[in-house]
Amino acid sequence: MAFNTFQLQAPAKINLFLHITGKRDDGYHLLQSLMVFVDVGDTLEFAPHDSLFLDVDGPFAGDMPAPSENLIYKAAGLLAAEYKTTMRGRVRLTKNLPVASGIAGGSSDSAVAMRGFVKLWGLPEEHERMQRLAQRLGADVPACFIGKPVWAEGIGEKMTRLPEMPQMHFVLANPMVATPTPEVFRRFNSKYSPAIQFSGRRKSMHEWIADLKLYRNDLTDAASEVTPEIKQVLRALAETPNCHFARLSGSGATCFGVYDNADAAMAAVNKLKQLHPGWWISPANLLR
Ligand code: ATP
Repeated sequence: MAFNTFQLQAPAKINLFLHITGKRDDGYHLLQSLMVFVDVGDTLEFAPHDSLFLDVDGPFAGDMPAPSENLIYKAAGLLAAEYKTTMRGRVRLTKNLPVASGIAGGSSDSAVAMRGFVKLWGLPEEHERMQRLAQRLGADVPACFIGKPVWAEGIGEKMTRLPEMPQMHFVLANPMVATPTPEVFRRFNSKYSPAIQFSGRRKSMHEWIADLKLYRNDLTDAASEVTPEIKQVLRALAETPNCHFARLSGSGATCFGVYDNADAAMAAVNKLKQLHPGWWISPANLLR
């Protein structure tokens, strides 16, 4: 890596649960969700350059939109307009996360791109101003800017950072069928969940798991209509030894299983890879 070049990780997001509690007059759904981030993600490498240049590589580079549509470009444009500066820098995105898969790969890339451009362009680190810009980039971007467990309400804009959570071990599995979020919301026609009071005051991993099992992802039926393979993924995860529960993340199609330790998660990964060689399957640990 050349001098002045630096790398940032854009972690995947998991919705440990996601309840839809209503709909606003403008059509946006109201939700309550516990969003966490894991040690699996895309990588962004930044280097000085006098104009803005984006390279994409990695296993899912081929599924990406044109560079001008990339959320990294949009983050650069917004930041440059806000701080009245020019867009510049060479960014190499290594796309490790499947695209349109419910784990906020694009949102995380754009949140991390904001951090990268702030550093590269020598801008001040102004958290609240950044959060306002992040909101304009997408509903999940402010949470991705935090990158640690958050309790999200409203249309996702009301966020409370949770106190430290115990380590949790996951397996992520995706059937490799892109599942566009707007299509899933269009099909959502279940009853709304009652709003819950949620506090992060649980101690052990087992207390957390026992509580999380009581909740659900309300988008599961709608997402399974769009991508029927989701049901198969949930079943396959739930059938792996020592899986506490399996659930859909976001609007899918990525699902996750929760395990006691990294060994149990790895054993499940190996088994699922044998059974479903066409799926994207990865172990993941919580970023606390
Ligand atoms: P969420 O969980 O926030 O709904 P997602 O994981 O379902 O997000 P993304 O992978 O973030 O979906 O992609 C959503 C859309 O954004 C895709 O259709 C893709 O074309 C577009 N996009 C723009 N920039 C990026 C990027 N850097 N990475 C991935 N997708 C991007």
